Amino acid sequence: MTASSRQLSPQPIAPSSERADVGGDQAAQNQVPPLTGYNLFLSDRTLVQAIEREGAGWAREQITELGRLLSTEEAQRWGFEANENEPVLHTHDRFGNRRDEVVFHPAWHNLMRTSVANRLHSLPWESGRSGAHVARAALMMLTAQNEAGHTCPISMTFSAIAALRAEPELAAEWEPRILSAVYDPRFAPAQEKSGVLLGMGMTEKQGGSDVRANTTRAERIGSSREYLITGHKWFCSAPMCDAFLILAQAPQGLSCFLLPRWTPDGKRNAFHIQRLKDKMGNRSNASSEVEFAQAWAHAVGEEGRGVQTIIEMVNHTRLDCAIASAGLMRQALAQAVHHARHRAAFGKLLIDQPLMRNVLADLAIESEAATLLMVRLAHAFDHRGTDERERAFCRIATAIAKYWLCKRSPMHVGEALECLGGNGYVEESIMPRLYREAPLYSIWEGSGNVMCLDVLRALTKEPATVEALLAELQLTAGADKRLDAFVESIGNRLTAAASDKYAARNLTEKLALALQSSLMLRYSSPAMAEAFIGSRLAAQHGQAFGTLTEEVDVKDVLSGVVELLAVSA
Ligand SMILES: Cc1cc2nc3c(=O)[nH]c(=O)nc-3n(C[C@H](O)[C@H](O)[C@H](O)COP(=O)(O)OP(=O)(O)OC[C@H]3O[C@@H](n4cnc5c(N)ncnc54)[C@H](O)[C@@H]3O)c2cc1C
Repeated sequence: MTASSRQLSPQPIAPSSERADVGGDQAAQNQVPPLTGYNLFLSDRTLVQAIEREGAGWAREQITELGRLLSTEEAQRWGFEANENEPVLHTHDRFGNRRDEVVFHPAWHNLMRTSVANRLHSLPWESGRSGAHVARAALMMLTAQNEAGHTCPISMTFSAIAALRAEPELAAEWEPRILSAVYDPRFAPAQEKSGVLLGMGMTEKQGGSDVRANTTRAERIGSSREYLITGHKWFCSAPMCDAFLILAQAPQGLSCFLLPRWTPDGKRNAFHIQRLKDKMGNRSNASSEVEFAQAWAHAVGEEGRGVQTIIEMVNHTRLDCAIASAGLMRQALAQAVHHARHRAAFGKLLIDQPLMRNVLADLAIESEAATLLMVRLAHAFDHRGTDERERAFCRIATAIAKYWLCKRSPMHVGEALECLGGNGYVEESIMPRLYREAPLYSIWEGSGNVMCLDVLRALTKEPATVEALLAELQLTAGADKRLDAFVESIGNRLTAAASDKYAARNLTEKLALALQSSLMLRYSSPAMAEAFIGSRLAAQHGQAFGTLTEEVDVKDVLSGVVELLAVSA
């Protein structure tokens, strides 16, 4: 059976008074009501406190409204429908002419419209307000909980501006269209549209991490900044974007270009979509293989400095990988806790079974630590333009957070899925969708090893990152002896470890745990911080979730999640 023929979306929810009567011969007993109609934002105390603390309180109303909307039955249905009804590629029209269009289900457009209207693709670039990255991170984290697939073009559009500014004239032409809050899905020249989206093309068949291996060629047209591009991209997500930042080999070396779907004189550009990828997850989003047959493009930045130019875009998408991973963990936790609050086994609600409490508390700790780390990173993005230390911190924390949160989320979501028992393995529960999405964030925009090697690169080539990292950890010096000892041991090894590629994962993990411990000491309840440090730093923990020791105050750790979900669900 193909995914598109399955019916995964939740059925309309009957009022509880009617629900007992449905179910044919036997009414369903001991089943859990759907987790719907709660506020994704207000039920997340960590996030609520974070936006106030980090100067994004001005966006409270908008974030609250999006949190409400995304948990409505209607918006939840968009997520299911956009994944059940996958995008369809039309390579040619009926006369044999190239068409190169992907057609999406209306649910996809509803999701896109909502995200664009909420300025997830643009907020920090246009608002100029302090805390705009944190505000956007909160909006993005909520959105990823509802449907993560469509955030791919949203994230790429947001990130592209950072690189596009290397070519001021081009940026001046494109930015007003990009910053528009109107979602305009028409396949038409950008100058005729009221809003546009951008994608990215770096990965080729022979290499994704090592883009120096790119073979796509760029030939300059006369002495202009215009080029003709010939070659391919092996992964090109969201091919219905209006333009792409791509890498290609120019005479001076690998260079960055803006390649639109339509040429400036209003003709279809030679951008040919070969086929769509049949992916494990992320099925609402079209990811394609494309070929360029002398496609028109405009240079972005200096010829030969393509990687340095596009890395600004990549860094912003890495931030989004960390945000979305924190979102997936939060949604998985909410689903697991909700289920355990309503489902009984062996004479008790699951939430009252000691071992289930251990699992849920462990998941709650991990989720909170993930949220704090991604908010801290978003804060660094907010201040890196004006504060040197934040710039250096941002440089290294992006790689650390991208690696660690994306590594933790598949395991976290997998464990949360099991809390729902067999129902967690069934599509209607949303858990399989979260589970399939989770590993993707670790693969794209720099997969695990690449991120850890990037941490080493930052430590060796940019000494300011070491200082910024240690200064951050110093903020909680003396607050916990175990953390002090942990930080001291990493600090002592930092210079030697920075050249040890074999141990790069080990070092990056330790840096992530130290950062998360420090953040939890500052912003979490004492019980939560104690549980995190005791389990993650002091080795009082097994390899799986649910192995907290008796010292952990599980009641306190779980209280925030349970109470707030209970109030709002
Ligand atoms: C759904 C999806 C959508 C995508 N969309 C896009 C897109 O829109 N645009 C785009 O450009 N790309 C896109 N990608 C491609 C993605 O960014 C690449 O797959 C990724 O960068 C890895 O490149 P690769 O697949 O060539 O693997 P490789 O580069 O061959 O890497 C394979 C493995 O080797 C590891 N590795 C690489 N170098 C080293 C090293 N020096 N030391 C140790 N280990 C190493 C990597 O971490 C990885 O685990 C997409 C991928 C997916 C799955």
